[in-house]
Amino acid sequence: MVVMGWVHRRRDLGNLLFLDVRDRSGIVQVVFNKETQAEAHAKAEQARSEFVVAVEGKVVKREKANPEIGTGEIELVATKLHILNTAKTPPFPIEAEINAAEETRLRYRYLDLRRPKPHANLALRHKMVLEMRKTMDEMGFIEVETPMLTRSTPEGARDYLVPSRVHHGQFYALPQSPQIFKQILMIGGLDRYFQIVKCFRDEDLRADRQPEFTQLDLEMSFPRQEDIFNVIENVMVRVCAVAGIAVQAPFPHMLYKDAIRKYGSDKPDLRFGMELHEVTECFPVEARQKLQIEGSVFAFAAPGGAAYSRKQLDELAEKAKAVGARGAYFVKVAAEGTTSTVEKLIGAENVKKLAVACGAKSGDLVVAASAKQEIKGTEAAALVAGQLRLHLGEALGAIDKNQWKFLWLTGFPLFEWSENEKSWASAQHPFTGIVDEDLEKLETAPWEVRSKGYDLVLNGYELGSGSIRIHRQDVQERVFKALGLSQEQLRKRFGFFLDALTYGTPPHGGIALGVDRIAMLLSGEKSIREVIAFGKTTAAQDLMAESPSDVDVAQLEQLGIEIKGG
Ligand code: ASP
Repeated sequence: MVVMGWVHRRRDLGNLLFLDVRDRSGIVQVVFNKETQAEAHAKAEQARSEFVVAVEGKVVKREKANPEIGTGEIELVATKLHILNTAKTPPFPIEAEINAAEETRLRYRYLDLRRPKPHANLALRHKMVLEMRKTMDEMGFIEVETPMLTRSTPEGARDYLVPSRVHHGQFYALPQSPQIFKQILMIGGLDRYFQIVKCFRDEDLRADRQPEFTQLDLEMSFPRQEDIFNVIENVMVRVCAVAGIAVQAPFPHMLYKDAIRKYGSDKPDLRFGMELHEVTECFPVEARQKLQIEGSVFAFAAPGGAAYSRKQLDELAEKAKAVGARGAYFVKVAAEGTTSTVEKLIGAENVKKLAVACGAKSGDLVVAASAKQEIKGTEAAALVAGQLRLHLGEALGAIDKNQWKFLWLTGFPLFEWSENEKSWASAQHPFTGIVDEDLEKLETAPWEVRSKGYDLVLNGYELGSGSIRIHRQDVQERVFKALGLSQEQLRKRFGFFLDALTYGTPPHGGIALGVDRIAMLLSGEKSIREVIAFGKTTAAQDLMAESPSDVDVAQLEQLGIEIKGG
């Protein structure tokens, strides 16, 4: 028998030398006996961690089994050792658990990848994606590739641009999504398209974002909303099963405005309660003035929170400020009686009312919050309270980590107010369909227009979003105009698409799910970088390949580009 792999560990007991040899499938113990196999033993003395070896020998049953490892019942008695390659001492040990900084792990990703967890994550991801493809295929969808070198697709982020060598001064954009192409495939009569596809968005990065990410993207002709929900539910049930997680379809639905008012989030985590209640009327005018409350107040009851100390409440108030609160107000409901940080200001009656409104029981802490800044078209105080709900849900151990709570969100507004741009922006993207009876408000009351969009949420994460699309050219043009594009701009940017819409476009709709995010959740990770083979830092760098990087002046010249100050 020959075993090949890496030296995981070496233990030298004099006459007996043990090498643990590791490959993708696990670890096996190899014994070198100085008396019976002097030559192999002498070679083994030279072996060090991460050397690559081939061992010839015989498998025997161990005298004392090691239940910690998969091959713990047996060992390999070596007759010959070949050292196939040496290795420098790695910057961190290749162990299941390590505490190396993420930057070090990313820089030496090839070493990090030798650990069991990254292996398992990539293997699970492979199985998930395979199941997605199988499921989509069985439902009659065909996978079509769309271009990577294309023009801007608006998804609310900045574009990654690629300069053209042939056409100086002109640029391709990497797709923020295949949105326009998949709609054109419907115009092309393809009917049921999907793609597991890379998308690129230059935006501020977080734990669950990457400059490039993978999507399960799909589009259907003539769908009702529930047809798309059925497709995705089918996919998600099967993908979860691959990870050993049983979930049931259909998934519940919730209106966007209910999600905001009840959970203070457009991606509510339904694994725990602590629902929000509007308690503005518990704060009389005078108290509101003293507390400088301009808008509404939202509150919730946190079970077990009454045991919070003064110091913990102060910390909670600080946390509230950090997430945009004007103020946070607390009521402790305890057997000895109800106490509150705002009793003097709002009076005992109102304190009681506040506790009752939240359904607080003995032992609960009622947390109420107002917002520092009102945001047009949304409940700013609810959003602040929603953040505190998540924080306390985690801190008080209220979240059952074995639950998988899917949710469809519908009833989104078509537009969102952009404080930066001081204009209306698409809440999703400008191709999102419009609830028929709201069409007439497009120019007169854009903030009231509801979209035909939907989001899929799992355990507090947005897995993806989609919509029934606009399929009429005149409506699409009106939306572009409502977004502030002039006739000239919309022709220049979207003329080809507007033209395509005039040649008999079927009603169509679709969705895209974030594959990295799904893999992250199903493998129990907290960052998508753990399920991506070669991830980028939050500063959008690949530390291993050292990109982005400078390029040769000659390359720039070919592209007709000069770096300012370079
Ligand atoms: N293009 C959208 C996105 O990438 C998804 C969709 O509307 O189908 O988020």
